[in-house]
Amino acid sequence: MASTDIVVVGSCMIDFVSYTSRLPKVGETIHGSKFVTNFGGKGANQCVAAAKLGGKTTLVARVGDDIWGEKYIENLKRENVNTEFIKKTDNSTSGIAQIIVSEAGENQIVIVAGANAKLNANDVISAKSAIERASVVILQLETSVEVAIKTLELSKGISILNGAPALSTYDLKLLTLPTIFCVNETEAAIFTGLSSVNNVSEAETAARHLIGKGCNSVLITLGPQGAIYLNKDDHKLLHVSSPKVQSVDTTGAGDAFIGALAFVLANQKGVTMEMAMKIACHVAADSVTRAGTQISFPNAKILPNIK
Ligand code: ATP
Repeated sequence: MASTDIVVVGSCMIDFVSYTSRLPKVGETIHGSKFVTNFGGKGANQCVAAAKLGGKTTLVARVGDDIWGEKYIENLKRENVNTEFIKKTDNSTSGIAQIIVSEAGENQIVIVAGANAKLNANDVISAKSAIERASVVILQLETSVEVAIKTLELSKGISILNGAPALSTYDLKLLTLPTIFCVNETEAAIFTGLSSVNNVSEAETAARHLIGKGCNSVLITLGPQGAIYLNKDDHKLLHVSSPKVQSVDTTGAGDAFIGALAFVLANQKGVTMEMAMKIACHVAADSVTRAGTQISFPNAKILPNIK
């Protein structure tokens, strides 16, 4: 079994993206101008983000028994991700997102979870030794809450729960078990019930609310405004800004951030949270300067340039 520093338990999705002049009306067929397929899913994205920086990564996931499942595993192997815990699921399609993007930038999206919905606690138990040995374990909520809680219970190192997509009602273990509970502004508002989380001050309020509910530490990403962090021990707010960049496509920025954060925490022993967040902000900001999701994530060459 390959040794591993970072284990990600989560989703693999294939995005089928059609570009059109406008969105079709109900029942209408229209011509598109371009079609692309992208490998996505928050679990795989975060894993690939860490692997591209040189992290030793393992993904625990499910794909379908269709050609996309096969192609997804090949893609992960190319990115040096350990795929031994990715199950091809009989009689199931791979997870897909059908996306239409209009010239005005509007979109219509249909997501079919497929095999991702079948990832279960037994799959997590099959990967128990890798999860227990990992320095950092990452998970999200595109797969079931049962999977997230089982993984958090097995984890012995740092665990990062990315609360995405957000839940308005949830098992409190999702807040109390992870070392770091990480969300973006929209998700922070949903988890706390606050009407808006759009700036550092509102994010601080949300983070204090989540610490009050039992989080060990809370990290909220704020797009171009960077990210904030608060932990239950010193209650001192940390705000790290993101470099100013020419944004081309922000899809997957949050995944680039979490993958990079996990990479730094796993590989730089004793690193401060401030430095880990600074590197994560640089990596995520760099990713938004290029189109696409996984293909926009930078490789290890970016690291020495971050001072
Ligand atoms: P997405 O859903 O688009 O993947 P997200 O909403 O989960 O992203 P964000 O908070 O938008 O996550 O962004 C994550 C990180 O990416 C930010 O903390 C920041 O470091 C970086 N980032 C995102 N957008 C920009 C931008 N326009 N300029 C600079 N950095 C950015």
